[in-house]
Amino acid sequence: MKSISELISLQNACFKSQKTKDIAFRLSLLKALKKEISTQEQNILDALYKDFKKSAFEAYLSEIGIVISELNLAIKHLKKWAKPKRIKASLLTFPSKDYIYKEPYGTVLVIAPWNYPFLLAMEPLIMAIAAGNTVVLKPSELTKNTSKVITTLIKNVFPENMATSIEGGIDTSTELLAQKWDFIFFTGSTTVGKIVAKAAAKHLTPTILELGGKSPCIIDESVDLKLVARRLVWGKFLNGGQTCIAPDYIIAKSSIKQNLIEALKAEVKNRYGSNPKDSVDFPRIVNQKNTLRLGELIKDSNIVFGGDIDVTNCYIAPTLIDEPNLESPIMQEEIFGPILPILVYETQADIEKIIWHLDKPLSLYVFSNNSSFLKETLNKFSFGGGVINDLLIHFGNHRLPFGGVGASGIGEYHGKHGFNAFSNTKPIVKRGNWFDPSFRYAPYKGKVSLLKTVFKYFG
Ligand code: NAD
Repeated sequence: MKSISELISLQNACFKSQKTKDIAFRLSLLKALKKEISTQEQNILDALYKDFKKSAFEAYLSEIGIVISELNLAIKHLKKWAKPKRIKASLLTFPSKDYIYKEPYGTVLVIAPWNYPFLLAMEPLIMAIAAGNTVVLKPSELTKNTSKVITTLIKNVFPENMATSIEGGIDTSTELLAQKWDFIFFTGSTTVGKIVAKAAAKHLTPTILELGGKSPCIIDESVDLKLVARRLVWGKFLNGGQTCIAPDYIIAKSSIKQNLIEALKAEVKNRYGSNPKDSVDFPRIVNQKNTLRLGELIKDSNIVFGGDIDVTNCYIAPTLIDEPNLESPIMQEEIFGPILPILVYETQADIEKIIWHLDKPLSLYVFSNNSSFLKETLNKFSFGGGVINDLLIHFGNHRLPFGGVGASGIGEYHGKHGFNAFSNTKPIVKRGNWFDPSFRYAPYKGKVSLLKTVFKYFG
């Protein structure tokens, strides 16, 4: 087996050979990947089920389906995306033809998390390859079965000098981060994001960091609570609540709190039955360590629904917590599980106090039919992306860039934004030779006022 530095040398040589600049070559790899995913589909589904009992429906909805549509999109638009784009020239550069070139960075490191282990490894890989890079991918050690399938899949499609998957935990990740890369794409926690940023700073390596945080969901009194509860139970408990953009907690108008809790209880029963542990649609927590962590979070809180924990089987019931203290651990760290705290507000100032108490979130959701309330809320708070009157679905439109801000991330991807994320933007001006006024050349005496006019009208 090759060492990490040998692999990087191989990929660097491949990149420098200019082979990856060939669009037809990239397309052939993307098409082969699509075929291989279809061949391996059952293995991917089985692995996701073994890793945390993810149902086939959720696996297709939130992993395989999105990966296939990103592949289709890249295959369809790659030629157009990669083509130098003619840009309107400036009179200051006259005569010229101006362009934007998209160039691949080179050898890229992708580090993936476990919560959507297939999607969040494959989507960056696809866009990195589409943009003409070579890739070393490190999938998560916590979802071993899925990581194994990913490694096989990549091996079956890509020569090692184009893309390879290296499985391993923190030690492997640390060793990878110690190398010099042309670009790093990291998805994971804010804490590890800081470690990645520090490692990247050593070589001034450009990075995209897709991180986490506590995403609020604000609900005012103008809503249909039954519909809100239906959407909330779906968006919060999908993937067992282990979704980076899941609503972490609710801020509800105090007058609707009790009815909201009742609507949520009824909806959980509708979806998962009176014992969600028996439901084939309710996933498990990824491991016992995280189950214990979540158990600690709810230990001394006011549980108004759920709360059952089975550490051996990594199960936590959908759980509602009534008005936890802002200083309690559950309101300090990202929950990342099927636990939903419900806080209340009377005024916008109460909402500010809660949201500004925390780092900028990855998402913000607001359920309301009051347009001035919506406008004020969306304008006031800084967050990565959001949805009005639903949850998570901004992730599903590839035309929308996806990413965080501040502690929830740096940079964005998805669809064409993903291709751009893995491309350096290279502006090129081709100067014409047929006209070369002496104005810009020394001596400059007497030219300042004309220069001012030029900037005033043509700058
Ligand atoms: P994590 O940060 O623990 O791990 C992510 C990756 O980093 C893994 O591959 C892991 O092996 C590696 N890693 C872990 N510790 C490391 C260390 N000390 N040094 C170097 N590498 C290390 O995250 P996770 O638990 O896998 O995923 C959950 C987190 O990811 C949540 O915070 C969630 O919000 C976030 N997330 C964000 C997005 C997004 O798109 N913004 C998507 C999914 C998950």
